[in-house]
Amino acid sequence: MDPFVLVGGGLTTARAAEALRTEGYDGDLVVVTTEPHHPYERPPLSKDYLRGEAERDAVFPLEEAWYGEHGVDVRTGETAVGLDPASRTLTLSDGATLTFAKALLAPGSTPRTLSVPGSDLAGVHYLRTIDDSDRISAQLLEASLEGVGRLVVVGDGWIGLEVAASARTLGLDVTVVGRGTHPLGRVLGTEMSDFYARVHTEHGVRLQRGVSVTGLRGADGRVTGVDLSDGTHLGADVVVVGVGVTPNIGLAEAAGLDLRDAALGGGVAVDGTLATSHPDVFAGGDIASIPSPHYGRPLRVEHWAIAQETGTHAGKAMLGAADPYDKLPYFYSDQYDVGMEYTGWVDVRAGYDDVVVSGDADKREFVAFWRVDGQVVAGMAVNVWEQMERVEELIRSGRKVPTTELEGFVG
Ligand code: NAP
Repeated sequence: MDPFVLVGGGLTTARAAEALRTEGYDGDLVVVTTEPHHPYERPPLSKDYLRGEAERDAVFPLEEAWYGEHGVDVRTGETAVGLDPASRTLTLSDGATLTFAKALLAPGSTPRTLSVPGSDLAGVHYLRTIDDSDRISAQLLEASLEGVGRLVVVGDGWIGLEVAASARTLGLDVTVVGRGTHPLGRVLGTEMSDFYARVHTEHGVRLQRGVSVTGLRGADGRVTGVDLSDGTHLGADVVVVGVGVTPNIGLAEAAGLDLRDAALGGGVAVDGTLATSHPDVFAGGDIASIPSPHYGRPLRVEHWAIAQETGTHAGKAMLGAADPYDKLPYFYSDQYDVGMEYTGWVDVRAGYDDVVVSGDADKREFVAFWRVDGQVVAGMAVNVWEQMERVEELIRSGRKVPTTELEGFVG
């Protein structure tokens, strides 16, 4: 029988391989990854691993030896460049072809890049891979040892704020440049954006808002500063750009698999078993647009938990499991001493009624709830632990939850 092939080098393929072997699949299993490493996960890359506090092993969900012991052929440094679902064939970057019985596409995303003069100067970084994290880490640690190095972060999303927090923790002088009025505003809305903005300014980070980068200046090929649209010039020894990512849907698109409308978040359309429009080809992780029974629409989510859970779910589905994927989105973030967990989903642009806070926001121990039509659609716990199941229950209940009940959530 032809092998099962897992495309991608992230957590999704690691969890899919693990589920396949755990569930008793003993056929040939191949992982194809562009990276020179075995599959790894990304959360530590902007947090403790970036600061030099976590061991390299912490980034790998399965030890390299696991793949050998379980008969998994990991082909590093290989990219799947062509897919023909009809003949169930993948073409690899070295020209080889691989016929598969079933395939899982989990190729992740690619960082958006800045296209302004000076973008290619040394010292300007993107953070996606473990090698990116190693490079940035070395520069941040070097800058911190030399006294106050100046870091400019372009983009005020998750990468931007987590890298800013890590760099401030190392003692660097940090400025974050955001084009909107609210950091993380597109995900959290204004109230919780203000919370994070306060956390960062209290730690000495400068937030430059409502501006864009018009160019990067350098000397001897190395970045020395950043020009902003309002005429400000920021001196910089290191620049990290985190301006979002584009899901790698090219392989699926060229193969003619169904895609989701951009208005619904784009991505590769899958059903509840994570099967694409071809029944032998599955998709998971960042690229998968998955029907959400709870929200009544497809969701495409770019976070750690989706990689983890869709990997396991796809592995089982490739063996015939038919239960639909029904997890609520979940993610977490650690910035300074602010640990956060979030579950649910809210379309901030479409609007929400309000955000109700339970607990003590000044002490940074609280749970925030987003309501739409009186129902809780998302919740975020800050330094309050083991409450996500209760938050999920409220979301799934679909009932209108009174303000007083929410305010009393943290007892
Ligand atoms: P992100 O969280 O989507 O944020 C992108 C940020 O870049 C937004 O603030 C956006 O502003 C801004 N932006 C977009 N284009 C820009 C431009 N041309 N100039 C300046 N700013 C621009 O993406 P990310 O921070 O790059 O992170 C990459 C991926 O990793 C995301 O999928 C993210 O979810 C994931 N990640 C997750 C975590 C976590 O779960 N804790 C941590 C790190 C990374 P607007 O809002 O105004 O568009």
